[in-house]
Amino acid sequence: MSRMSAPAVAIAHTRRAFAFLLDLLYPPRCGGCDRYGEGWWCCACNARTHWLSTRESQVALALPSGESLVVISAATFAPPLREGIHRFKYESQPQLAEAFAAPMSTIWRAGGLSADVIVPVPLHAARLRERGFNQSAMLARHVSAAVGIPVAASALRRIRPTQQQAHLDATARKENVRDAFAALPALVAGRAIMLVDDVFTTGATLMECANVLLRAGARSVSALTLARA
Ligand SMILES: [Zn+2]
Repeated sequence: MSRMSAPAVAIAHTRRAFAFLLDLLYPPRCGGCDRYGEGWWCCACNARTHWLSTRESQVALALPSGESLVVISAATFAPPLREGIHRFKYESQPQLAEAFAAPMSTIWRAGGLSADVIVPVPLHAARLRERGFNQSAMLARHVSAAVGIPVAASALRRIRPTQQQAHLDATARKENVRDAFAALPALVAGRAIMLVDDVFTTGATLMECANVLLRAGARSVSALTLARA
């Protein structure tokens, strides 16, 4: 076990005290059913979530390059998780990230796919300012802590604003994200990348990101999402 320096211990204590105060002021409320007292994702909502088995969790998408993109998902995009993800992203409940990242880490480890670095699907700067946080980056940070693989948050950038994919059909989604991303070759060349996103629907965003990463020299690209529609 590594020994913490005195300032690091002081910071850790302050963080814990701060978290305790926050819990008193704003007690954790379940992101699925609003119940207080059982953390950010309660037992009842957890039991109602359709978690995928290791066998069900992986889907392979064919990329234009002929390579395949394996997408691992922890659950089906259905109530109450659908509501939970909505709150996580749009109603300022970033605390749900930790609860949601835990099953993502578990299903990734169970599937046995390796990676050198984790890359969250980026938001455009304007969207990031509006929301205040990138939900995929938050999930990626917690997954990284659990699996011990580093995050390269700046490996991928969204270089133009795009519409919300949720309201578009499959063809429009592909068009919407075309040429929307740029990768930093220095951070991805020769590496096996695990992309992280919250929801996988048609895979248009993940496939566009994978193409860009492979063109920048990534050795391989897989993806991990919380939910699959
Ligand atoms: Zn609940």
